[in-house]
Amino acid sequence: MTQITPQPGIMDIALYQSGAAHVAGVSNTVKLSSNENPLGPSPLAITAMQEAAANMHRYPSSDHQALRQAIGEVEGLNPEQIICGAGSDEIIAFLCQCFAGPGDEVLYTEHGFAMYRISALAAGATPVEVKERERVTDVDALLAGCSEHTKLVFIANPNNPTGTMISAAEVARLADGLPKGVLLVLDGAYAEYVEGFDAGADLIATRDNIFMTRTFSKIYGLGGARVGWGYGPAAIIDVLNRVRGPFNVSTTALAGAEAAVRDRAYIDHCRNENAKWRSWLAAALAELGVASDTSCTNFILARFASQTEAEACDTYLQTQGLIVRRVGGYNLPAALRITIGDEAACHRLIKAISEFKTQQGAA
Ligand SMILES: *Cc1c(COP(=O)(O)O)cnc(C)c1O
Repeated sequence: MTQITPQPGIMDIALYQSGAAHVAGVSNTVKLSSNENPLGPSPLAITAMQEAAANMHRYPSSDHQALRQAIGEVEGLNPEQIICGAGSDEIIAFLCQCFAGPGDEVLYTEHGFAMYRISALAAGATPVEVKERERVTDVDALLAGCSEHTKLVFIANPNNPTGTMISAAEVARLADGLPKGVLLVLDGAYAEYVEGFDAGADLIATRDNIFMTRTFSKIYGLGGARVGWGYGPAAIIDVLNRVRGPFNVSTTALAGAEAAVRDRAYIDHCRNENAKWRSWLAAALAELGVASDTSCTNFILARFASQTEAEACDTYLQTQGLIVRRVGGYNLPAALRITIGDEAACHRLIKAISEFKTQQGAA
């Protein structure tokens, strides 16, 4: 028996299941399993990354000054209150590492993003799951779920994999009702899909117990570059910067993200295309008897009659080269999460689900 053992909690972490990208024996597949932007990154971001590649023998900027400045200008935020990470996953990990440890509790909702539990366990803290109300964040349940051990509360707004969101007034009620010493983290991974939404920045301006995380992996189409950022009270940023590795974001990632955030026309285009095909897809699904909540994101949570039907549909979609996401791990076994693809992908998807429903009716 080895004497080399990991810290408590580590072995409770199940290995992360990322969205599948291939189906054995099927060509011409389309990946709708990871909420990626089907249009890809801004062409300006691609050019910036290509140019930055020539300088890869140099270490990257360690203070991310240029990217923080660009984000600050675009979002109307103080760059001094911004921190950049290798994806927002890294910011989530910093938050848990810095503010929660053995004996402390980290709250999130029953259909909340997987990284909250993983990062809480990695920090040695205790993850605590709280009920939602019909796939919507329940502020009362979160407030009731707090104990004297609670240190962090994570909500994604809008949430993944439900696609729903709560109002700024509800977020404010949550923040203002939390016990002293608890930090509310607003994960705004999908914020850019909601036109005019500030992801909670205004609430942060007047409170010291809210922090926001954002990402370049979704509407910016830069999931492969690994860039995310956080915004919050200067005192929290100061803490997080102490555990952040000095070179945590690569030269190419910084250059790509800076060009991407400045290309507002491209982001508006992506938001509009997503909204258009999201409405089309939701209506077409409803016509086929597949229910969904109104989505505020770039995916739809499609609800089937049962787990059996959802899994059978997923299996049929795979044979047609369409890869969507099972969400049994998110306590939603009778649902499939489907990323909004481009026009061709949306048409292929509805054709396949229609065939599946016809076969099912005949069986
Ligand atoms: C995709 C996603 C993220 C983004 O993670 P990155 O590490 O920035 O790629 C964060 N939170 C939620 C809820 C997500 O769905």
